[in-house]
Amino acid sequence: MQPLRGALLAPRFLLLPAWCRFTWGQLILPLWPPPCRLCHRRGQGPWCRHCDDVIPLYPRRCPRCANPRLDGGDCRECRRRPPLFDSVTALGAYRRDLRQAIHRLKFGGDWDLAFPIGERLAQAALPDVDLLVPVPLHPDRERSRGYNQATLLAQVIGARRGLPWQDALLRTRATVPQMRLDRASRQSNLADAFAAARSVSGRRIGLIDDIFTSGATAQAAATVLRAAGAIQVHIIVAARAIPAPWARP
Ligand SMILES: [Zn+2]
Ligand SMILES: [Zn+2]
Repeated sequence: MQPLRGALLAPRFLLLPAWCRFTWGQLILPLWPPPCRLCHRRGQGPWCRHCDDVIPLYPRRCPRCANPRLDGGDCRECRRRPPLFDSVTALGAYRRDLRQAIHRLKFGGDWDLAFPIGERLAQAALPDVDLLVPVPLHPDRERSRGYNQATLLAQVIGARRGLPWQDALLRTRATVPQMRLDRASRQSNLADAFAAARSVSGRRIGLIDDIFTSGATAQAAATVLRAAGAIQVHIIVAARAIPAPWARP
């Protein structure tokens, strides 16, 4: 249906008589609503109700890192070593159709998936922030991919929420993708991987990324942003990985 929708914007379509455009746009097209961008089921708009039911995070979670918690208090990890970020907001758990969609966005060239995901994030209950900062890719990786998915998400959220975004972080060296590493290697992989591109003194930062896994990226980026003067760092991601004991199929 997407090419059909695109055709509606074509100049030739606009030359058709008004009654013809009305019949097509208001009467015929609604019979074939566009498919859900996550699971491809035919549905209303970019997210179907099925996906809304499937992706949510656990209702009780750590207020800092959004880890599932039965009592809703700070998790053991955050109590033992308080993170330098203040909160994590995610659309849902990193599984099933949301996981597939993020894979397509990052590795499949489906950059336009940033629009439905970013718009959904913009509608979420976000913390108060003054500036959105995307987690940078190393320039080599960004060149080969053609875009940084975190920048696209920051642009969509910024446009919808009326918030500025800035490349306030730089990736100073290439790192192994975090998903390939065990927990212990993730921190060392990211040591000195980020630097501040500019001062963010006195700002409350919304740090934008596609996925929050162990928190190592968020912690490394928050360390640099705090040193550059940020007073708060809130993590805003499409999905949060759920530890194995909590993960549902
Ligand atoms: Zn769906
Ligand atoms: Zn926690």
